Amino acid sequence: AVECVGVQKAFDGTPVLKSVDLSVEHGQVLCVIGPSGSGKSTFLRCINHLERIDGGLLRVAGEMVGYREHKGRLHELRHHEIARRRADIGMVFQGFNLFPHMTVLENIIEAPMSVRKVKRAEAVADARRLLEKVGLAGREEAYPRMLSGGQQQRVAIARALAMRPKIMLFDEPTSALDPELVGEVLSVMKELAAEGMTMIVVTHELGFAREVADTVVFMDGGYIVEQGPPAELFASPRTDRCRDFLGKVL
Ligand code: ATP
Ligand code: MG
Repeated sequence: AVECVGVQKAFDGTPVLKSVDLSVEHGQVLCVIGPSGSGKSTFLRCINHLERIDGGLLRVAGEMVGYREHKGRLHELRHHEIARRRADIGMVFQGFNLFPHMTVLENIIEAPMSVRKVKRAEAVADARRLLEKVGLAGREEAYPRMLSGGQQQRVAIARALAMRPKIMLFDEPTSALDPELVGEVLSVMKELAAEGMTMIVVTHELGFAREVADTVVFMDGGYIVEQGPPAELFASPRTDRCRDFLGKVL
């Protein structure tokens, strides 16, 4: 479902992703761990073309998000085409990023109506179903500020799902939450994984990674330094860098 080969990205000449190779199969969960500044968020942002890559190749569901190939050359797509492809990719950030002036319901139905051209009644019915799924049935008319961080993050997940994405990207979705609210968000994510959603999750929640991930990737210095099944990677890291990192977060 996601395929990255030799992905490179630099900011002002400073390489952040030096050469990232990775593939995530349909229905799999990949967790990304690594020290601050190692390029985890940049990598996720490259996947949905919020950042333009400098080299390599990146495909989601068989398609390059930002480009098309023509006569052996890559051409960047137009804005509306990028938006259409991006609709296949749901993203949930650390901050809750809901539209503050919109109700929960309006937050969820906005993109399906404007991008997927879904009729209002259908978008509303879908939003209600998704709110039930994330444990927030009945909160349609609430504004984000009236909700806890955990509730807001569950609305953010519902909003992403409303676009019927093929994959979901999570960038430290629980790290801004009070500890007692982390569990409710992780359990929604666990359920999603169990339903077969393809997911890439940047997280420091190693318990979640151990339980849910098919593969854990350790990023450092612009490379994927190690990857493997969580039980293996956590129990016997092969590199000093990974061992040191695990020692600090475990
Ligand atoms: P954290 O765990 O703190 O979230 P991270 O692994 O997600 O870190 P990134 O946010 O991807 O790391 O940042 C990697 C490096 O790229 C950092 O040195 C950061 O300062 C730099 N960087 C990220 N975005 C930009 C940008 N838009 N312009 C310039 N530098 C950037
Ligand atoms: Mg980050």
